[in-house]
Amino acid sequence: MRHTVLTAFLSLFTLSIAASCAFAQPAGPEAPAPTPRTPLAGLEYDAPFFPGARYDERIPTPESLLGFPIGKRAATNAEIERCLKAWAETSGRAQLVEYAVSHEGRSLWYLVISAPRNIGQIEEIRSGLAKIADPRTTTGAEAERLARSLPAVAWMAYTIHGSELSGSDAALAAAYHLIAAENDDEVRRMLDELVIIFDPVMNPDGRDRNIKQIREHRSAAPTVDDQSLLHAGYWPGGRTNHYLFDLNRDWIFAVHPETRGRIRAVNEWNPVLFVDAHEMGSQDTFLFSPSREPLNIHLPEHRMHWWKTFAKDHAAAFDAQGWRYYTGEWADEWYPGYSSSWAALKGAVGILYEQASIGDQAVRRPEGTLLTYRRSVHQQLVSTMANLRTLLEHREALMLEFLNERRAAVSADGPYAQRVFAMAPSANETRDRDFVDLMLLQGFEVHRAGRSFTADATDRLGRAVEGREFPEGTILIPNRQPEAHLVAAMLDFDPRMTPEFLQKERRELLRTGESELYDITAWSLMMMHDVQGYTLQMASLPAGAEKITQTTPVRGGLERADATVGFIFDGADDRSVAAAARLMERGVQVRVADKAFTFDEDSFSRGSVLVALDDNSNFEGDLVGAVREVAEMVGLGALGVSAGLGDMVESPDMGGRHFILLEKPRIALLARGRVNMYSYGAAWHMIDNRLGARASHIDIDRLGGVDLRRYNVLVMPEIWGGAPDDAALGALRDWVRSGGTLIAIGASAAALAGEEPGLSAVRLLPDVLDDLEEYELAIIREWLGRDGSVDLDAVWGQSAPTQTPLPWERLESLPGEDDLKRRDAWQRIFSPQGSIVAARVDDRHWLTAGLGDYVPALAQGSIALMSKPPAQTPVRFGFAIEGQGDQATHTETDKGAMERLRIGWAPPAPDGHDLRLRMSGLLWPEAAQRLANTAYLTRERVGAGQVILFATDPVFRGGSMGTGRIFSNAVIYGPGMGASHPIRP
Ligand SMILES: [Zn+2]
Repeated sequence: MRHTVLTAFLSLFTLSIAASCAFAQPAGPEAPAPTPRTPLAGLEYDAPFFPGARYDERIPTPESLLGFPIGKRAATNAEIERCLKAWAETSGRAQLVEYAVSHEGRSLWYLVISAPRNIGQIEEIRSGLAKIADPRTTTGAEAERLARSLPAVAWMAYTIHGSELSGSDAALAAAYHLIAAENDDEVRRMLDELVIIFDPVMNPDGRDRNIKQIREHRSAAPTVDDQSLLHAGYWPGGRTNHYLFDLNRDWIFAVHPETRGRIRAVNEWNPVLFVDAHEMGSQDTFLFSPSREPLNIHLPEHRMHWWKTFAKDHAAAFDAQGWRYYTGEWADEWYPGYSSSWAALKGAVGILYEQASIGDQAVRRPEGTLLTYRRSVHQQLVSTMANLRTLLEHREALMLEFLNERRAAVSADGPYAQRVFAMAPSANETRDRDFVDLMLLQGFEVHRAGRSFTADATDRLGRAVEGREFPEGTILIPNRQPEAHLVAAMLDFDPRMTPEFLQKERRELLRTGESELYDITAWSLMMMHDVQGYTLQMASLPAGAEKITQTTPVRGGLERADATVGFIFDGADDRSVAAAARLMERGVQVRVADKAFTFDEDSFSRGSVLVALDDNSNFEGDLVGAVREVAEMVGLGALGVSAGLGDMVESPDMGGRHFILLEKPRIALLARGRVNMYSYGAAWHMIDNRLGARASHIDIDRLGGVDLRRYNVLVMPEIWGGAPDDAALGALRDWVRSGGTLIAIGASAAALAGEEPGLSAVRLLPDVLDDLEEYELAIIREWLGRDGSVDLDAVWGQSAPTQTPLPWERLESLPGEDDLKRRDAWQRIFSPQGSIVAARVDDRHWLTAGLGDYVPALAQGSIALMSKPPAQTPVRFGFAIEGQGDQATHTETDKGAMERLRIGWAPPAPDGHDLRLRMSGLLWPEAAQRLANTAYLTRERVGAGQVILFATDPVFRGGSMGTGRIFSNAVIYGPGMGASHPIRP
């Protein structure tokens, strides 16, 4: 046997030498020796994509451009780009547009395909479509004529999750067919009546990362086990973009260039069909829209009708091939930041595909068959063509409906005619500006109040405010505008799910413990950005409001450069933190004020950043130049001051203890292993992209072996499956005690909040049910610490008092431990999927600089952090507002005394106050009771260092700017503000 194989092998070798000699070529580069392949039946799938099609020979075929037939393997981004460029060059049916460049420098393209006559007048078509999209710009008859006659636009988008490969290859096959097919009636009609835009790779960085992983794990013997790394990939996989963001959640936050470029592009085209092609588990089949409940309440009325219309044709196309598929079993359209829901809110039929994922070659299925990569491409292709066919069939009806929806959106009798969203200007100017930029990017109409006005409003806590005065400069976004549905979906403070869905969700939670919800339930952009948002009940804008089309460009710079004492960046603005980081990077000594102050006539907020000349006498180089450069770079003005004397009552003076010297942060961020890539990516993006600070990324599995002394801040993003191992914990403990600032997020915070890790005195609620009085007392003390009322008679009375009031005396008593355990387990069933909750802010803590008196925070999951002194709790869930005190109801006991009712385990809000909790999204009453008064943010000293815990991710999707500010403060100010560092002799 052995001999035979060897002989066969040798003769193969001889043959190849002979072949190369025959062409008298020099010896080529050394290639791997051929490995005998294990035969595997079913690896070949050669069903033709377009049987019988004839193609224009002047258009290069995909095979000639790729070097392999479509579907043999996933094409790389560069290979796809080569095809798009070649086709745009050789065909009169195609036009190629570059719409963005990814973080890693890859171009994003869309290919416009239509009849040459349409391509020749593409600008006219686009401006005609724009008139339909804003019916105010033309007459009713003209708009109708345009809707009946113009081609409809289909936006066909693939692989927003870079590891979901097959869609991009299908896009190539479909594009080539549409560009090159000859004598095909259907193609001719499509080209005449449609403009088909292929956006083949929405996430090129992710796609190439995934293809690299596949190459690394490709064996000579084909691997068809989907658990193998070849198909499963490894951390972080290719799903996400460079900063590991899920771009299919980024549409409403628009943090990344891929999304921002695409939003601009889609807004120029007004598609009526928007396909978003994904992949799912390898053992699955194929899923397409309609999605299941809940549907966003702002979706245009007839979406379900159209989803069903498209689905019927789609299903028939699969039935013709004998392929299995399903609809509506998972994936919802509640969250407006998915591609399909975002597009649907703009008036397109947004359709989701989910194809069973094959990394390479094929995957073995439970029935024993092989599902090949080429077939997965074929399924995406058949889906693509089926949807285009349906669009062709219903072009006119869809165009007229798009027009009618837009007419209703701008009508005085429309559903959104009585509402205007308002943002009152704040001292956090760059954040306000970022918010307005986001609104403009989305294509919303934005106005600015030219003078002050009064209006009846509802604030973010749901309070009606009558006749509030809004200052000049207030930003106004009328809901009545062409994009009314998307405006409402992004800004509505409190959209509510249908009673039917709520009943279903509760039934499922109780029966199975599983939620029907696929994503977060709240995202209201004015809450996520934490801007001063209001909903105004008004039909028209106040007099003097001007439409704005761009924000004032970012202008930093230095005023009063000849100041004698120092330079200040105001702490109200988020960019002051970035300024501090960049100054320290340049070796400038920086202080931060933990109190608001006034020098001369100029007032500055808590958290303001001071560069004192006196501190920087050692600075080598041009200090004023460095301050100016940083001010320009971060886009925030710095002001020179020539007096360090406060007003001698409230304002501190410059030389006192309220101006704390910062220590340059040397940041480590944990990665890989069990680290949640989204949490890591969001922290990385904040540190790198917004703060401009340097950070080392450390493999969590090597934590015990690295020299942590190089760092003074360590960020631990969310991790799965409990605390790090003992070696890592030991290293962390030593490092924190010697002066490190450890910041742990969500599940990591929960993993450290226990006795065992020995790093924190914070605990989880289920672990302290026998000790709740202690935590309750901490809350009471915090409330009273803010109130400060004094009983003067008692204080100045001269007899020894027989009684002093004990604030917990009137509280109803806590149930026994067994009851508490049962209650906690029950309430945990209803843990939030992601709702926005008001959290009160300790306005004297350095971590909360830049925040108001409460911050909208994301509540997600079952983590309930319990803290008491000496641990500090700068932010807690629940914000007390003046009110009837309806939660602090009193109850008659058998003793006849009036008892005050608790909120869950905690005391009620102070007398005359209500505790506000839910701001937006689904928060079951059971979950609200459990969450109220638990800690969102804790900070405690451990040795010479400190531990800072966040209950949930403060930089969620790069969009939660309010809590994001706390994270920035922690990372950049932590080493100076909360830890001690030796003077270096
Ligand atoms: Zn996906």
